[in-house]
Amino acid sequence: MGAAGSKLEKALGDQFPEGERYFGLENFGNTCYCNSVLQALYFCVPFREQLLEYYASNKSTGDAEENLLTCLADLFTQISSQKKKTGVIAPKRFVQRLKKQNELFRSYMHQDAHEFLNFLLNELVDILEKEAKAVKSDTETSSPPENTANGSKSALPNGVLKEPLVTWVHKNFQGILTNETRCLQCETVTARDETFFDLSLDIEQNSSITSCLKNFSSTETLNAEDKFFCDKCCRQVILLASSGICSSMDVYFIEWLTMLVLVSATWSRTVSVPLTH
Ligand SMILES: [Zn+2]
Repeated sequence: MGAAGSKLEKALGDQFPEGERYFGLENFGNTCYCNSVLQALYFCVPFREQLLEYYASNKSTGDAEENLLTCLADLFTQISSQKKKTGVIAPKRFVQRLKKQNELFRSYMHQDAHEFLNFLLNELVDILEKEAKAVKSDTETSSPPENTANGSKSALPNGVLKEPLVTWVHKNFQGILTNETRCLQCETVTARDETFFDLSLDIEQNSSITSCLKNFSSTETLNAEDKFFCDKCCRQVILLASSGICSSMDVYFIEWLTMLVLVSATWSRTVSVPLTH
């Protein structure tokens, strides 16, 4: 493995990004679905940096109970703190924790990378939300409320959350899908926003992720037969429905999506990818 690492270093030469580590993840028997997602997440730099920060601040308080978030943070810290630039790491603790937590991932059968990613992101959000709530109840009992952890600033003086907690996981991966309907009679437009962590995209041959995202937006005519009622016209009408992604994606994110599509391509042609906004 060391020789392979050297080869990679030689091949990249001066192009090897400063401070970057390229480490392979050991497969524990059909855990490639997990390893590919972990690799893609590691190279989503904003997410990685926030996770490493989380690890550093949690380590100093010393009260971290083991969960998927701490195991992931530990794994990323192990990779980023390696002296060598390339090599292999065994994500044993993370995989053990994953299997303990969800029986779906316990067998040695091939699992779905998308399903794993969805489970992991939701799990990370749950953990961060629980931690924020714990911080909130602590501050309520001891001192005047302050901002809760993970960037939340929604706690009001009476302790009521003004808006849903937005964690750094949301900030990296949550997208907004806007669904609009237009009444063809009175032209009234009704818009509804939905948040999402993943989106099913049709991946066309020889096309880029950006172009697939552009193709995602759709417009369709909904018939009155489907019983659509316009409040303004006070009767059933024909509606024009359209949906689009409300996101401003940065370069890192597009790179990350591309990588995820590449690693998922062996499972299926159509892959689901999370988006940011
Ligand atoms: Zn109308």
